[in-house]
Amino acid sequence: MKNKTFCQSCSMPLDSEDLLGTEKNGAKNHEYCKYCYQDGSFINPAMTLDEMKELVKTQMQKMKMDSGLISRAVNTLPTLKRWKKEKVMA
Ligand SMILES: [Zn+2]
Repeated sequence: MKNKTFCQSCSMPLDSEDLLGTEKNGAKNHEYCKYCYQDGSFINPAMTLDEMKELVKTQMQKMKMDSGLISRAVNTLPTLKRWKKEKVMA
């Protein structure tokens, strides 16, 4: 479980090459998953942190994950690279 990386947008574990996002030149991006980042840009660039929280929560609930795990994942989101620099929006 060492060196486990997580998508810096949605906190999904990037434990398989298949899950990695891609750059314009086809190279893998090791910071974001393919659901967040493809061809060198975010799939949904206008998404806000709150929207991502909702999405992650909904997805994890669908997968019947433990509520403790869900809240931990949601609480991790603001510390991820994509969201850290985002200014708080009203
Ligand atoms: Zn992601």
